[in-house]
Amino acid sequence: MDYIQSTNGKIDIKSLTLDELSALVKEMGEPAFRAKQLYEWMHVKKARNYEEMTNISKALKEKCAEKFDYTSLQSVTVQESKLDDTRKFLFALSDGNMIESVFMKYKFGVSVCISSQVGCRMGCKFCASTLDGVVRNLLPSEMLDQIYAISRITGEKVGRVVVMGSGEPLDNYDNILRFIRLLTDENGLNMSQRNLTVSTCGIVPNIRKLADEKLAINLALSLHASNNDKRKALMPIANQYEIHEVLDACKYYFEQTKRQLTFEYSLVAGVNDTDEDAKELTDLLSGFNCVVNLIPVNPIKERDFKPTDRTKANAFKNKLEKSRINVTIRREMGRDIDGACGQLRRRHLEEK
Ligand code: SAH
Repeated sequence: MDYIQSTNGKIDIKSLTLDELSALVKEMGEPAFRAKQLYEWMHVKKARNYEEMTNISKALKEKCAEKFDYTSLQSVTVQESKLDDTRKFLFALSDGNMIESVFMKYKFGVSVCISSQVGCRMGCKFCASTLDGVVRNLLPSEMLDQIYAISRITGEKVGRVVVMGSGEPLDNYDNILRFIRLLTDENGLNMSQRNLTVSTCGIVPNIRKLADEKLAINLALSLHASNNDKRKALMPIANQYEIHEVLDACKYYFEQTKRQLTFEYSLVAGVNDTDEDAKELTDLLSGFNCVVNLIPVNPIKERDFKPTDRTKANAFKNKLEKSRINVTIRREMGRDIDGACGQLRRRHLEEK
Protein backbone atom coordinates (compact mmCIF):
# COMPACT_ATOMS: atom_id res chain seq x y z
CA MET A 1 0.00 0.00 0.00
CA ASP A 2 1.28 3.45 -0.89
CA TYR A 3 0.81 5.91 1.89
CA ILE A 4 0.80 9.62 1.34
CA GLN A 5 4.28 11.11 1.56
CA SER A 6 5.43 14.38 3.04
CA THR A 7 7.92 16.77 1.42
CA ASN A 8 10.85 14.94 3.07
CA GLY A 9 9.84 11.56 1.61
CA LYS A 10 8.56 10.05 4.87
CA ILE A 11 4.95 8.99 5.39
CA ASP A 12 2.88 12.04 6.35
CA ILE A 13 1.25 10.89 9.59
CA LYS A 14 -1.35 13.67 9.78
CA SER A 15 -2.63 12.87 6.28
CA LEU A 16 -3.41 9.25 7.18
CA THR A 17 -6.95 8.06 7.83
CA LEU A 18 -7.52 6.30 11.14
CA ASP A 19 -7.68 2.95 9.32
CA GLU A 20 -4.36 3.54 7.60
CA LEU A 21 -2.74 4.69 10.83
CA SER A 22 -4.12 1.64 12.65
CA ALA A 23 -2.59 -0.70 10.07
CA LEU A 24 0.80 1.00 10.35
CA VAL A 25 0.75 1.08 14.14
CA LYS A 26 -0.07 -2.61 14.13
CA GLU A 27 2.91 -3.26 11.85
CA MET A 28 5.04 -1.49 14.43
CA GLY A 29 3.92 -4.09 16.96
CA GLU A 30 1.73 -1.74 18.96
CA PRO A 31 -1.84 -2.33 20.12
CA ALA A 32 -4.58 -0.83 17.94
CA PHE A 33 -5.82 1.65 20.54
CA ARG A 34 -2.50 3.49 20.22
CA ALA A 35 -3.52 4.55 16.71
CA LYS A 36 -6.72 6.02 18.08
CA GLN A 37 -4.75 7.92 20.73
CA LEU A 38 -2.29 9.29 18.19
CA TYR A 39 -5.13 10.29 15.87
CA GLU A 40 -6.90 12.08 18.69
CA TRP A 41 -3.75 13.98 19.64
CA MET A 42 -3.35 15.12 16.06
CA HIS A 43 -6.89 15.87 15.00
CA VAL A 44 -8.86 16.62 18.16
CA LYS A 45 -6.29 18.02 20.57
CA LYS A 46 -4.32 19.61 17.71
CA ALA A 47 -0.91 18.71 19.10
CA ARG A 48 1.98 20.55 17.44
CA ASN A 49 4.44 17.70 18.01
CA TYR A 50 4.90 14.34 19.71
CA GLU A 51 6.18 15.97 22.91
CA GLU A 52 2.69 17.25 23.67
CA MET A 53 1.26 13.71 23.58
CA THR A 54 1.46 12.97 27.29
CA ASN A 55 -0.10 9.49 27.34
CA ILE A 56 2.08 8.06 24.56
CA SER A 57 5.26 6.23 25.57
CA LYS A 58 8.65 7.68 24.72
CA ALA A 59 9.49 4.50 22.80
CA LEU A 60 6.45 4.83 20.52
CA LYS A 61 7.06 8.53 19.96
CA GLU A 62 10.60 7.70 18.86
CA LYS A 63 9.36 4.98 16.52
CA CYS A 64 6.84 7.41 15.06
CA ALA A 65 9.42 10.17 14.62
CA GLU A 66 11.59 7.66 12.77
CA LYS A 67 8.89 6.44 10.43
CA PHE A 68 6.69 9.48 9.89
CA ASP A 69 6.87 13.17 9.14
CA TYR A 70 4.80 15.38 11.45
CA THR A 71 3.93 18.58 9.59
CA SER A 72 3.50 21.81 11.50
CA LEU A 73 3.22 25.48 10.65
CA GLN A 74 5.27 28.36 11.96
CA SER A 75 3.35 31.59 12.28
CA VAL A 76 5.49 34.24 10.55
CA THR A 77 3.25 37.29 10.80
CA VAL A 78 -0.30 38.06 11.77
CA GLN A 79 -2.08 41.13 10.47
CA GLU A 80 -5.08 42.26 12.43
CA SER A 81 -7.68 44.44 10.78
CA LYS A 82 -8.58 47.67 12.50
CA LEU A 83 -11.91 47.72 10.67
CA ASP A 84 -13.26 44.33 11.76
CA ASP A 85 -12.17 41.16 13.54
CA THR A 86 -10.32 39.71 10.56
CA ARG A 87 -6.83 38.36 10.96
CA LYS A 88 -4.54 37.26 8.21
CA PHE A 89 -1.85 34.71 9.02
CA LEU A 90 1.33 34.12 7.09
CA PHE A 91 2.60 30.62 7.87
CA ALA A 92 5.88 28.92 6.97
CA LEU A 93 5.66 25.25 5.96
CA SER A 94 8.33 22.73 6.97
CA ASP A 95 10.14 23.21 3.64
CA GLY A 96 10.22 27.00 4.06
CA ASN A 97 7.43 27.83 1.63
CA MET A 98 4.94 30.46 2.77
CA ILE A 99 1.16 30.30 2.70
CA GLU A 100 -1.60 32.52 4.00
CA SER A 101 -4.85 31.84 5.79
CA VAL A 102 -7.56 34.14 7.06
CA PHE A 103 -9.56 34.16 10.29
CA MET A 104 -12.95 35.87 10.04
CA LYS A 105 -15.34 36.40 12.92
CA TYR A 106 -19.01 36.87 12.14
CA LYS A 107 -22.02 37.14 14.41
CA PHE A 108 -22.79 33.48 13.77
CA GLY A 109 -19.28 32.20 14.40
CA VAL A 110 -15.77 31.82 13.10
CA SER A 111 -14.79 31.03 9.53
CA VAL A 112 -11.33 30.18 8.34
CA CYS A 113 -10.21 30.62 4.75
CA ILE A 114 -7.39 28.27 3.78
CA SER A 115 -4.93 27.93 0.91
CA SER A 116 -4.79 24.73 -1.13
CA GLN A 117 -1.52 25.26 -3.02
CA VAL A 118 1.66 27.31 -2.70
CA GLY A 119 0.92 29.86 -5.40
CA CYS A 120 -1.42 28.99 -8.26
CA ARG A 121 -1.15 28.25 -11.99
CA MET A 122 -4.60 29.34 -13.11
CA GLY A 123 -3.56 32.85 -14.13
CA CYS A 124 -6.72 34.82 -13.26
CA LYS A 125 -5.90 38.39 -14.18
CA PHE A 126 -7.02 40.14 -10.98
CA CYS A 127 -5.49 37.65 -8.54
CA ALA A 128 -2.20 38.13 -6.69
CA SER A 129 -1.75 34.42 -5.85
CA THR A 130 -1.04 33.43 -9.41
CA LEU A 131 1.49 36.09 -10.43
CA ASP A 132 4.47 33.76 -9.87
CA GLY A 133 2.75 30.50 -10.80
CA VAL A 134 2.41 27.42 -8.63
CA VAL A 135 5.22 26.09 -6.43
CA ARG A 136 3.58 22.93 -5.14
CA ASN A 137 0.39 21.33 -3.90
CA LEU A 138 -0.42 21.43 -0.22
CA LEU A 139 -0.73 18.12 1.59
CA PRO A 140 -4.00 17.27 3.35
CA SER A 141 -2.14 17.70 6.65
CA GLU A 142 -0.99 21.18 5.64
CA MET A 143 -4.56 22.23 4.90
CA LEU A 144 -5.70 20.84 8.26
CA ASP A 145 -2.74 22.52 9.99
CA GLN A 146 -4.01 25.95 8.92
CA ILE A 147 -7.29 25.34 10.71
CA TYR A 148 -5.70 23.70 13.75
CA ALA A 149 -3.10 26.46 14.12
CA ILE A 150 -5.64 29.28 13.86
CA SER A 151 -7.95 27.58 16.31
CA ARG A 152 -5.08 27.13 18.78
CA ILE A 153 -3.73 30.67 18.39
CA THR A 154 -7.10 32.43 18.65
CA GLY A 155 -8.67 30.03 21.14
CA GLU A 156 -11.80 30.03 18.97
CA LYS A 157 -13.85 27.13 17.72
CA VAL A 158 -13.80 27.11 13.92
CA GLY A 159 -17.36 26.65 12.66
CA ARG A 160 -16.85 26.99 8.92
CA VAL A 161 -14.04 26.47 6.47
CA VAL A 162 -13.80 27.96 3.00
CA VAL A 163 -11.15 26.79 0.55
CA MET A 164 -10.79 30.23 -1.04
CA GLY A 165 -7.22 31.15 -0.25
CA SER A 166 -4.31 30.80 -2.65
CA GLY A 167 -4.38 27.93 -5.08
CA GLU A 168 -6.94 26.02 -7.11
CA PRO A 169 -8.36 23.20 -4.97
CA LEU A 170 -9.54 21.14 -7.94
CA ASP A 171 -6.00 21.29 -9.35
CA ASN A 172 -5.00 19.38 -6.18
CA TYR A 173 -7.92 16.98 -6.27
CA ASP A 174 -6.76 13.91 -4.36
CA ASN A 175 -5.33 15.93 -1.50
CA ILE A 176 -8.44 18.11 -1.24
CA LEU A 177 -10.64 15.06 -1.07
CA ARG A 178 -8.54 13.46 1.62
CA PHE A 179 -8.52 16.76 3.51
CA ILE A 180 -12.33 16.87 3.38
CA ARG A 181 -12.59 13.29 4.65
CA LEU A 182 -10.22 13.99 7.53
CA LEU A 183 -11.80 17.32 8.53
CA THR A 184 -15.27 15.79 8.60
CA ASP A 185 -14.23 12.48 10.18
CA GLU A 186 -16.17 11.71 13.35
CA ASN A 187 -12.91 10.64 15.04
CA GLY A 188 -11.27 13.96 14.22
CA LEU A 189 -12.50 17.55 14.29
CA ASN A 190 -15.83 16.19 13.01
CA MET A 191 -16.85 19.28 11.11
CA SER A 192 -20.13 19.01 9.23
CA GLN A 193 -19.61 18.78 5.47
CA ARG A 194 -22.29 21.44 5.14
CA ASN A 195 -19.99 23.92 6.80
CA LEU A 196 -17.26 23.48 4.22
CA THR A 197 -17.10 25.35 0.90
CA VAL A 198 -14.73 24.63 -1.95
CA SER A 199 -14.25 27.38 -4.50
CA THR A 200 -13.06 26.62 -8.02
CA CYS A 201 -12.21 28.60 -11.13
CA GLY A 202 -14.05 25.87 -13.05
CA ILE A 203 -12.09 22.71 -13.87
CA VAL A 204 -15.00 20.91 -15.45
CA PRO A 205 -14.01 17.20 -15.22
CA ASN A 206 -13.10 17.63 -11.55
CA ILE A 207 -16.36 19.41 -10.72
CA ARG A 208 -18.16 16.37 -12.13
CA LYS A 209 -15.87 14.00 -10.27
CA LEU A 210 -16.53 15.90 -7.03
CA ALA A 211 -20.26 15.71 -7.69
CA ASP A 212 -19.99 11.93 -7.97
CA GLU A 213 -18.37 11.70 -4.52
CA LYS A 214 -21.84 12.68 -3.23
CA LEU A 215 -20.55 14.80 -0.40
CA ALA A 216 -22.60 17.49 1.32
CA ILE A 217 -20.00 20.22 0.89
CA ASN A 218 -20.82 23.50 -0.83
CA LEU A 219 -19.44 24.37 -4.23
CA ALA A 220 -18.59 27.92 -5.23
CA LEU A 221 -17.75 28.75 -8.82
CA SER A 222 -15.67 31.79 -9.68
CA LEU A 223 -17.74 33.03 -12.59
CA HIS A 224 -16.77 36.72 -12.85
CA ALA A 225 -18.34 37.29 -16.28
CA SER A 226 -21.63 36.88 -18.06
CA ASN A 227 -20.30 35.48 -21.33
CA ASN A 228 -17.35 33.45 -22.49
CA ASP A 229 -15.45 36.25 -24.23
CA LYS A 230 -15.45 38.43 -21.16
CA ARG A 231 -14.61 35.46 -18.97
CA LYS A 232 -11.65 34.58 -21.19
CA ALA A 233 -10.29 38.09 -20.77
CA LEU A 234 -10.22 37.64 -17.00
CA MET A 235 -9.68 33.90 -16.56
CA PRO A 236 -7.44 31.79 -18.84
CA ILE A 237 -9.28 28.61 -17.73
CA ALA A 238 -12.19 29.82 -19.89
CA ASN A 239 -10.07 29.00 -22.95
CA GLN A 240 -10.14 25.38 -21.88
CA TYR A 241 -13.73 25.06 -20.66
CA GLU A 242 -16.47 27.13 -22.19
CA ILE A 243 -18.81 28.97 -19.83
CA HIS A 244 -21.83 26.77 -20.63
CA GLU A 245 -19.78 23.62 -20.02
CA VAL A 246 -18.83 24.96 -16.59
CA LEU A 247 -22.41 25.87 -15.74
CA ASP A 248 -23.59 22.43 -16.89
CA ALA A 249 -21.06 20.85 -14.54
CA CYS A 250 -22.38 23.06 -11.73
CA LYS A 251 -25.92 22.02 -12.53
CA TYR A 252 -24.77 18.41 -12.33
CA TYR A 253 -23.16 19.14 -8.96
CA PHE A 254 -26.48 20.48 -7.71
CA GLU A 255 -28.40 17.49 -9.03
CA GLN A 256 -26.08 15.04 -7.31
CA THR A 257 -25.77 16.85 -3.98
CA LYS A 258 -28.78 19.18 -3.72
CA ARG A 259 -26.47 21.80 -2.26
CA GLN A 260 -27.19 25.38 -3.27
CA LEU A 261 -24.50 26.73 -5.59
CA THR A 262 -22.57 29.94 -5.06
CA PHE A 263 -21.38 31.98 -8.02
CA GLU A 264 -18.65 34.42 -7.18
CA TYR A 265 -18.56 37.54 -9.28
CA SER A 266 -15.80 40.07 -8.68
CA LEU A 267 -17.03 43.45 -9.87
CA VAL A 268 -14.44 45.29 -11.94
CA ALA A 269 -15.33 48.86 -12.86
CA GLY A 270 -16.16 49.19 -16.54
CA VAL A 271 -15.25 45.56 -17.28
CA ASN A 272 -18.10 43.36 -16.05
CA ASP A 273 -20.42 45.68 -14.12
CA THR A 274 -22.61 47.29 -16.82
CA ASP A 275 -26.39 47.02 -17.15
CA GLU A 276 -25.80 44.75 -20.11
CA ASP A 277 -23.67 42.45 -17.92
CA ALA A 278 -26.41 42.27 -15.30
CA LYS A 279 -28.97 41.39 -17.95
CA GLU A 280 -26.79 38.71 -19.53
CA LEU A 281 -25.95 37.26 -16.11
CA THR A 282 -29.63 37.05 -15.24
CA ASP A 283 -30.33 35.04 -18.37
CA LEU A 284 -27.30 32.85 -17.84
CA LEU A 285 -28.33 31.89 -14.31
CA SER A 286 -32.05 31.50 -14.80
CA GLY A 287 -33.21 28.17 -13.42
CA PHE A 288 -30.24 27.73 -11.07
CA ASN A 289 -30.69 27.20 -7.37
CA CYS A 290 -27.93 29.59 -6.46
CA VAL A 291 -26.68 32.66 -4.70
CA VAL A 292 -24.52 35.21 -6.46
CA ASN A 293 -21.78 36.64 -4.31
CA LEU A 294 -20.69 40.02 -5.62
CA ILE A 295 -17.19 41.05 -4.56
CA PRO A 296 -15.95 44.53 -5.51
CA VAL A 297 -12.53 43.55 -6.87
CA ASN A 298 -9.69 44.00 -4.43
CA PRO A 299 -7.14 46.03 -6.42
CA ILE A 300 -3.61 44.63 -6.61
CA LYS A 301 -0.74 46.91 -7.48
CA GLU A 302 0.49 44.73 -10.34
CA ARG A 303 -2.74 45.23 -12.29
CA ASP A 304 -4.94 48.13 -13.20
CA PHE A 305 -8.33 46.82 -12.08
CA LYS A 306 -10.61 49.14 -10.14
CA PRO A 307 -13.52 48.04 -7.98
CA THR A 308 -17.08 48.98 -8.84
CA ASP A 309 -18.29 51.60 -6.37
CA ARG A 310 -20.93 50.88 -3.72
CA THR A 311 -23.80 52.63 -5.49
CA LYS A 312 -23.17 50.84 -8.73
CA ALA A 313 -22.67 47.49 -6.97
CA ASN A 314 -26.03 47.95 -5.25
CA ALA A 315 -27.70 48.79 -8.56
CA PHE A 316 -26.17 45.62 -10.08
CA LYS A 317 -27.51 43.64 -7.13
CA ASN A 318 -30.99 45.12 -7.52
CA LYS A 319 -31.10 44.18 -11.18
CA LEU A 320 -30.35 40.53 -10.40
CA GLU A 321 -32.81 40.51 -7.52
CA LYS A 322 -35.58 41.77 -9.78
CA SER A 323 -35.19 38.48 -11.62
CA ARG A 324 -35.40 36.60 -8.33
CA ILE A 325 -31.73 35.73 -8.09
CA ASN A 326 -30.34 35.57 -4.54
CA VAL A 327 -27.51 38.05 -4.21
CA THR A 328 -25.11 39.07 -1.47
CA ILE A 329 -22.43 41.69 -1.64
CA ARG A 330 -19.37 40.38 0.12
CA ARG A 331 -18.42 42.54 3.05
CA GLU A 332 -14.95 43.70 2.26
CA MET A 333 -13.46 42.34 5.42
CA GLY A 334 -9.83 42.95 6.15
CA ARG A 335 -9.45 45.41 3.29
CA ASP A 336 -6.69 47.14 5.26
CA ILE A 337 -4.61 43.98 5.72
CA ASP A 338 -3.82 42.75 2.23
CA GLY A 339 -7.14 40.91 2.29
CA ALA A 340 -6.99 39.74 -1.32
CA CYS A 341 -5.66 36.28 -2.04
CA GLY A 342 -1.91 36.04 -2.11
CA GLN A 343 -1.11 39.66 -1.37
CA LEU A 344 0.49 39.09 2.01
CA ARG A 345 2.67 36.20 0.87
CA ARG A 346 3.73 38.17 -2.16
CA ARG A 347 4.68 41.22 -0.19
CA HIS A 348 6.69 39.05 2.18
CA LEU A 349 8.58 37.43 -0.73
CA GLU A 350 9.29 40.82 -2.27
CA GLU A 351 10.69 42.19 0.98
CA LYS A 352 13.08 39.26 1.16
N1 SAH B 1 -8.88 29.04 -7.16
C1 SAH B 1 -10.14 29.10 -6.51
C2 SAH B 1 -10.12 29.57 -5.08
C3 SAH B 1 -9.23 30.71 -4.71
S1 SAH B 1 -9.68 32.34 -5.08
C4 SAH B 1 -11.13 29.91 -7.34
O1 SAH B 1 -10.74 30.43 -8.36
O2 SAH B 1 -12.28 29.99 -6.97
C5 SAH B 1 -11.10 32.76 -4.15
C6 SAH B 1 -11.97 33.79 -4.82
O3 SAH B 1 -11.39 35.09 -4.77
C7 SAH B 1 -12.20 33.50 -6.29
O4 SAH B 1 -13.53 33.75 -6.62
C8 SAH B 1 -11.27 34.49 -6.95
O5 SAH B 1 -11.63 34.71 -8.28
C9 SAH B 1 -11.42 35.68 -6.05
N2 SAH B 1 -10.34 36.68 -6.13
C10 SAH B 1 -9.03 36.49 -6.29
N3 SAH B 1 -8.37 37.67 -6.30
C11 SAH B 1 -9.30 38.62 -6.13
C12 SAH B 1 -9.25 40.04 -6.06
N4 SAH B 1 -8.11 40.71 -6.17
N5 SAH B 1 -10.42 40.70 -5.88
C13 SAH B 1 -11.59 40.03 -5.76
N6 SAH B 1 -11.70 38.71 -5.82
C14 SAH B 1 -10.57 38.00 -6.02
